[in-house]
Amino acid sequence: MCGIVGYLGRREAVPIVIEGLKRLEYRGYDSAGVALFSDGAIDVVKRVGKVSTLEEALRARGLKATIGIGHTRWATHGAPSEINAHPHLDCRSDIAVIHNGVLENYSSLKKRLLENGHRFVSETDTEVVAHLIEGLYTTGTSLDQAVRLALQQVRGTYGLVVMSRREPDRLIAARRGSPLVLGYADDGYFIASDASALIQHTRKVTYLEDGELAIISRNGIITKTLDDVEVRKAVEEVTFELEQIERGGYDHFMLKEIHEQPETIRNAMRGRLLVEQGEVKLGGLDHVRKKFVQARRIILLGCGTSWHAGLAGEYMLEQIAKIPTEVEYASEFRYRNPVITPDDVVFAISQSGETADTLAALREAKARGATVLGIVNVVGSTIARETEGGVYIHAGPEIGVASTKAFTAQLTVLAMVTLMVARWRNVVGVDQKLLARELASLPEKVARVLSRYDLIKRIAEEFKDGRNFLYLGRGANFPVALEGALKLKEISYIHAEGYPAAEMKHGPIALIDEHMPVVFIVPKDAIYEKVISNIEEVRARRGRIIAIANEDDDQIHKLAEFVIPVPRTYGFFGPIVNVVPLQLLAYSIAVARGTNVDQPRNLAKSVTVE
Ligand code: GLU
Repeated sequence: MCGIVGYLGRREAVPIVIEGLKRLEYRGYDSAGVALFSDGAIDVVKRVGKVSTLEEALRARGLKATIGIGHTRWATHGAPSEINAHPHLDCRSDIAVIHNGVLENYSSLKKRLLENGHRFVSETDTEVVAHLIEGLYTTGTSLDQAVRLALQQVRGTYGLVVMSRREPDRLIAARRGSPLVLGYADDGYFIASDASALIQHTRKVTYLEDGELAIISRNGIITKTLDDVEVRKAVEEVTFELEQIERGGYDHFMLKEIHEQPETIRNAMRGRLLVEQGEVKLGGLDHVRKKFVQARRIILLGCGTSWHAGLAGEYMLEQIAKIPTEVEYASEFRYRNPVITPDDVVFAISQSGETADTLAALREAKARGATVLGIVNVVGSTIARETEGGVYIHAGPEIGVASTKAFTAQLTVLAMVTLMVARWRNVVGVDQKLLARELASLPEKVARVLSRYDLIKRIAEEFKDGRNFLYLGRGANFPVALEGALKLKEISYIHAEGYPAAEMKHGPIALIDEHMPVVFIVPKDAIYEKVISNIEEVRARRGRIIAIANEDDDQIHKLAEFVIPVPRTYGFFGPIVNVVPLQLLAYSIAVARGTNVDQPRNLAKSVTVE
């Protein structure tokens, strides 16, 4: 789930591994550790907490090596502790293993290994791999053979790297379900779970596929399948720049990414939205045009923020393209035996393209004959590769754990898909040119919202000690309410709920008193008056109202304690603009409370475990 970095070459491994782990910190983790080979032995240093604490411990030990592996752990099996942190060793401390993912059959393997006399020290699933390899790494067997045999016994997901005292000039890496990338430089070789950990050293990379294993030695890298067949892999260039994964003057990645949105929304549309013609061209969907024309319905799968994007997409697709659309939690989809037919078109929405639940759901849909497509950010990610087509959102690397720019880019892509599907299905009454112009105007409107940052900071000061928040919106802005509440929960740890505004009367209204801030998303649309009535209901119970309302709405100031003005937008595209003040509000409250905005507790950036 979290971070892996390995180096083998002529340079000092410690700074490379530590620097790499720091680049992966954004993914969220609870502990970190390294294994280094020097003077004929493997040294392991682990710490709970930040990579900087591990760095200090390493400095104190003064260890030197030219081969090393490092890991940041996001605990799945066993509490975050020094013992459970990776790397894990076999009984003789000859083999060190780091692992991302989950081994589903670890307890039966552990039982057998214990019966065979192996001694375990941690509660992790990962440790079984070290002991399995130990048992298979007999005289005459090479490390890569032993790893291969061990992996034949495990079920589950892994990206892992193994180091052995007996073959000190080698690292073995293997992948199933958890990404790994190999890097090539003149003075050595790298392995990492994410290219951002190594682009400082090289742009030449190859991505390991599921079921592949790499043998990294001082003479080069050999890749094989887990059945021991050599695979020749092309070396690719990483396309993003170092500055894209640095903070560039902002206090946090999240703030930088919020501010990038005018640009990222533009990038999502570039070359695809032809404003003058009122047309959309999405190369990754052209070949499935017929499927869209014949489709009975569209299903959008996602988790968390991507699921919210799906909900907003549902409004666009049903209301504009007039096609029945369903949005499903990817994590639930698979387990409820869904009725899927070859007439269904399914989109898997995921920033990372590695979300385990979404991946599993799309495989399920595929197995049942649906056309499966992706809306993802990370180029070449597993979802991008396993779908028949799709649309990249082109938001650039998103480092902040709380997703912001990926959300608005996902919505932008869903809006373009909607226009294209409406045209393909000859839906009458859709003014394509008008809608294309509306879309094209969004970056500028988002920039206008960003200019309200100071106002939002003042509101945050006022409410930073709140214990509960309610977010209410109707229609297409209901998903915005959900997303606003999620942002607040994720980074400020304040309890917040999003509701359709009218649903408030059926329960949440009981929570309202003079301490309850209620955020209303209330643009001047067809249901404006209805939302105003809901605002009155909250006022009558002395709730404190923060309204996201249109710039030209002069009535709202009489009703709300605070108003954040947003430009008017065509209703179904409204979420792209209206969510931005809520991102800034959550951010500002978190900063005012002093939480760790970019690495909120317990969260991981890409959730690669189910
Ligand atoms: N399942 C392993 C553990 O709990 C690996 C977790 C991770 O991906 O960081 O230690």
